[in-house]
Amino acid sequence: MGAKRLEGKTALVTGGSRGIGRAVAERLARDGAVVALTYARDETAALDTVECIRRDGGRAFALHAQLGSHGDAAALWSAFDARVPHDTTGPVVDIIVNNAGIGHGADLASLTEEGFDEVFAVNVRAPFFIVQEGLKRLRDAGRIINISSGAARLAMPEIIAYGATKGALDNFTLNLAKELGARGITANSVAPGIIDTDVNAGWLRGNPEAEAHAASLAALGRVGRPEDVADVVAFLASDDARWVTGKVIDATGGSGL
Ligand code: NAD
Repeated sequence: MGAKRLEGKTALVTGGSRGIGRAVAERLARDGAVVALTYARDETAALDTVECIRRDGGRAFALHAQLGSHGDAAALWSAFDARVPHDTTGPVVDIIVNNAGIGHGADLASLTEEGFDEVFAVNVRAPFFIVQEGLKRLRDAGRIINISSGAARLAMPEIIAYGATKGALDNFTLNLAKELGARGITANSVAPGIIDTDVNAGWLRGNPEAEAHAASLAALGRVGRPEDVADVVAFLASDDARWVTGKVIDATGGSGL
């Protein structure tokens, strides 16, 4: 068997203990990367993810990182530095996946200032400063992959602030691509549609009507799985995607066409 395509690379995946982040962590590790996955609350789930990766022959470790308050990115990176390989210049990372995010189910009339601040702090401010703080560790030809949402390009007034955060994230992606291109670093967003993860479990799982409706929104006729997104992230992380930057890659199964 030849070398794995991410052999020798180190990846950071925020919110890697469950859902899409877990699938991304597992896939990048399978491709040969050493994966640092962060979790906010559920240490057991994070350690279980690490254990699964190790059983599969991969390398990973878990870092606690609560995002959404000032200093969050600096704390994340100092925990990272204590655990990862260093080269002559210090700790290094090759792939940053900003996956951690929260939904916020409020419309224009009911959104509070606190709710607005919270969703922007986790979904926009944290990725911004994770990248800013991470830049000195990010090697040339590195990858920044932001997990956006189909909600950034569709009007969904019932989650108005959430959609705005993902729109902001996509604009951040665009600017990163321009700013960092000279170093061979690419920056892209991946925009999932409805994916069967815990965040949707309450309304989706065990509810055939809701599932059928969600499936009907995608041209491909089913609800997305975390692996559907992880495989796109793996492509963007690989050398095959070296000429793709500043883009939002749709992974909605053709929703809203
Ligand atoms: P999830 O709720 O299952 O997982 C989210 C992850 O983010 C968890 O690991 C959680 O610990 C972490 N996280 C949340 N808040 C955090 C905080 N304050 N600090 C640190 N970590 C925090 O969600 P998911 O469905 O796997 O979603 C992952 C990403 O994909 C999110 O950015 C989400 O917006 C995006 N997305 C999801 C869907 C979907 O249908 N599931 C659709 C489009 C986009």
